[in-house]
Amino acid sequence: MIFSHKTLGQNVLFGAGHAAQHLAAEVARLNSRRIMVVAGTSEADLARAVTSLIDVAVVYEEVIMHVPIETAQKARVAAQESEIDLLVSVGGGSTTGLAKAIALTTHLPIIAVPTTYAGSEATNVWGLTEAARKTTGSADHVLPRTVIYDSNLMLNLPVELSVASGLNGMAHCIDSLWGPHANPINAALATEGIRALANGLPKIVDNPRDIAGRDQALYGAYLSAVSFASAGSGLHHKICHTLGGTYDLPHASTHATVLPYVLAFNSLHAPSADQRIANALGSLTALEGLQDLRLQLQAPTALKDYGFQLENIPEAVEIILPSVPENNPRPVTAQNLSELLEAALIGANPTDLVLAPSEF
Ligand code: NAD
Repeated sequence: MIFSHKTLGQNVLFGAGHAAQHLAAEVARLNSRRIMVVAGTSEADLARAVTSLIDVAVVYEEVIMHVPIETAQKARVAAQESEIDLLVSVGGGSTTGLAKAIALTTHLPIIAVPTTYAGSEATNVWGLTEAARKTTGSADHVLPRTVIYDSNLMLNLPVELSVASGLNGMAHCIDSLWGPHANPINAALATEGIRALANGLPKIVDNPRDIAGRDQALYGAYLSAVSFASAGSGLHHKICHTLGGTYDLPHASTHATVLPYVLAFNSLHAPSADQRIANALGSLTALEGLQDLRLQLQAPTALKDYGFQLENIPEAVEIILPSVPENNPRPVTAQNLSELLEAALIGANPTDLVLAPSEF
């Protein structure tokens, strides 16, 4: 084996019902005095509960998905004017993303309290959208110092959003098996992440208030983010970032919809990844296992349901193609990428994308 691996350093505190105590202890440890809480309006109640044991200087609620640059700049000014020394984000990936955008220029530390399975809290990746183009980059100083996981905060996350967000975590795992820095350590984390998410998500669908299911999904989401942070964005993420940033498609549902198509597209060209995913899902092939799970979860199936249109495909291909990692297991061309997007647009059977013997 020859590989390099970078481990990102952060504290991870996990426990249903412990978020407020964990946060107070971390604020004391960091000796923070001027705290800005970042939480969207629909996350405000959760944020109030989580921050009940600390003093808060500012609550910032202007959270918009995919972090438009204007939103980030406004929040940075608010943090600076209030002489903030710590950001506490309580919310989904959009909220964590805004905190990271503030940290990108101010270097303020972040404690992240996630309330979805997006996983942004465990990566050093930031994202900003400007003039309908989403830019992502990595910077270690935007990585939250501490992540506080508490499944109680997810009990009211609607099932549909839980499924989409959990499959966003699954996408981190699967894409990290062929990401530009894929290595055996990421693969081990991703495999356990797939197993945990596949175990937890059906329990949530059966009973959204099942703490054991929520804990499994959250644990899997953390592993998925750690493996993704190390492996880097593969084909799946390059596609979904463009769909989200340029066409304003909802992040988690887009990932959940596109995933089987990218898996089908790459699977025959990445047999060891395919076997790993299949083993984790307890199925014969990766695609079979993913599709069975998606059926059980009633996962979203077609990009057209989110406003993506046939006429968007040529432009999307033009944007995505130059960003596809060179090590993607199957060579990506304008033709086969268009076919992938056309299939995802209408919810066609992804198995149609598996075989392309001429490209072997
Ligand atoms: P989101 O943060 O936009 O949340 C979706 C909706 O759910 C929002 O209305 C939110 O207020 C609500 N919500 C959140 N938690 C809730 C809860 N517990 N109960 C009820 N409602 C709740 O969506 P998301 O999918 O979590 O995050 C998407 C964003 O995160 C995208 O911009 C994406 O690019 C980013 N992201 C970044 C990374 C990274 O590594 N940088 C990784 C994953 C996602």
